[in-house]
Amino acid sequence: MTDPDPAVYLYLSLVIFLGGACMGSFLNVCIHRIPRSESIVTPRSRCPECRRPIPWHDNLPLISFFALRGRCRSCGARISFRYVSVEALTAVLFTLVWWQYGWSVITPIFWLVISGLILATFVDLEHMIIPDRVSLGGMALGVLFSALVPALHHVEHMTESLKSSFFGLLVGAGSLWLVGVIGKWMFRKDAMGLGDVKLLGAIGAFTGWQGVLFTVMISSLLGSIIGLSLIAFGGREWQSRVPYGPYLALAAVLWILWGTAWWEAYVGWLAGSPDF
Ligand SMILES: [Zn+2]
Repeated sequence: MTDPDPAVYLYLSLVIFLGGACMGSFLNVCIHRIPRSESIVTPRSRCPECRRPIPWHDNLPLISFFALRGRCRSCGARISFRYVSVEALTAVLFTLVWWQYGWSVITPIFWLVISGLILATFVDLEHMIIPDRVSLGGMALGVLFSALVPALHHVEHMTESLKSSFFGLLVGAGSLWLVGVIGKWMFRKDAMGLGDVKLLGAIGAFTGWQGVLFTVMISSLLGSIIGLSLIAFGGREWQSRVPYGPYLALAAVLWILWGTAWWEAYVGWLAGSPDF
């Protein structure tokens, strides 16, 4: 970032943070409605308890939840903490992406990817499915944006970035599909959902095989640590089927934000560079 004026930088960060919160508010609508096959445009937001429409001033991202003390104004039903969490999370990640990539064409693409990952995460947590609109849609958009913006894959020409995108898609979907096939053969039950397979394919279409490799390693690491802690400290029972999408999404977000730096450090370390 080259902007020399800290005040301007702070102001722009705040604008982007609020923009992210608004996007989070829209994602909440999608998270609720897409699995129920409802339109994400109409009708306007309603309280899920009393079905009364929510006026705009009670529907402000981040602010309204606290102003209403987490309850519906009409019927007093508790508003799920998920709503404000999604808004805050989207706002923070949008700001981090902007800090990382600045005014580059990559920034809005990664805002879109992060929105898709948040959508997949919260639908998967609640319904144990990842909507095709996110995973298959993500694959198509990943290939499209790779063709339009080769810089997404750190190359100059469309043919190279398309190759990287397709290869990432195939390695992503193929590797998890194989894990699923082997898991099924070993444990005699479905170990890996097809939704996860398609989601990693979509992640690969945007990040190439390097991003897939990172996502597989980090998501399985996070999955083991978080899963075992939940069982050990949260009294959670061992389940054969846990939503894996959120771990894939979290790892992909880490790759988007800091992956290139890690990758270069890793390659440097492999090459035995004197810096290490
Ligand atoms: Zn209500």
